Amino acid sequence: MIINWFPGHMATARRKLVEAMPKVDVVIEVLDARLPRASANPLLDELRRDKPCLKLLNKTDLADPAATKDWIKYFNAQKNTRALAVSAKKASELMRIKKICRELAPKRGTPGRPVRVVVVGIPNVGKSTLINSLAGRKIARVGDKPAITTCQQQVDLRDGIMLYDTPGMLWPDLSDQQAAYRLAAAGSIGDNAMDPYIVSLFALDFLLQRYPRQLQSRYNLERLEGGPEELLLDIGRRRGCLIAGGEVDPQRASELVLRELRAGSIGAISLELPQDPVIRKKETQVQVP
Ligand code: GDP
Repeated sequence: MIINWFPGHMATARRKLVEAMPKVDVVIEVLDARLPRASANPLLDELRRDKPCLKLLNKTDLADPAATKDWIKYFNAQKNTRALAVSAKKASELMRIKKICRELAPKRGTPGRPVRVVVVGIPNVGKSTLINSLAGRKIARVGDKPAITTCQQQVDLRDGIMLYDTPGMLWPDLSDQQAAYRLAAAGSIGDNAMDPYIVSLFALDFLLQRYPRQLQSRYNLERLEGGPEELLLDIGRRRGCLIAGGEVDPQRASELVLRELRAGSIGAISLELPQDPVIRKKETQVQVP
């Protein structure tokens, strides 16, 4: 996936959101359940103000259930906000989304007065997958490149829900360096944006601290000794990521670790918790053109 958020695209996305707000009753904000804060863009909260919001923690199948539970509690404590953990691909969970939307806008949801919703989120969180599942047909392209949206004014999702435009794209906020690394580790920003070696070291350091048992079990490690660099070499050796002469190829080892982390092969991993600190900086190592 290529990240191409030019200032012009950001201005367009912002304008579209400003235009949408008075026309919708409920905002469905799609977040990545593995990193619900890093995958949000603070602009949305700023623009929606008190408008009811359903925070949809998607890709729950990949996230740590205990962390997801904490996030749901955290979001449910916020004003005019409900949170729900889903896997957008599972149709069985989607009726709950419509039900919550109707509850968030109790004066609507009757024939002729549907609940008007907008689905927003950063690229790759699953907006298109969700919209297609909700609509029961393909109306949004899955895997769309950022800032390219198919414009449709309104789509009847049935059961008293009307979707306004599709999908509302927001750019990832990279001003918190930890958040930028988490997004990169989860595969939510393009691999071109950051060096996979650096990202894999970040991921291994994180896993050593929070998910050591999953690491040990995935890579058959008897002990966890040393730091992320040694660990990466050890994994590379065990998994045959070698170059001529039998040395470990750190690049291939990094790509392997990131691929397996993103696919959920290391386990159900969440990359942040509600209590993790937020440190916003003006500049990060991630370059978004
Ligand atoms: P969008 O850019 O926000 O519209 O995201 P997409 O709907 O295109 O989804 C991005 C990728 O995430 C695709 O490869 C989807 O198949 C995948 N995806 C979407 N929802 C889920 C989910 O609940 N679980 C998992 N594991 N993958 C998902």
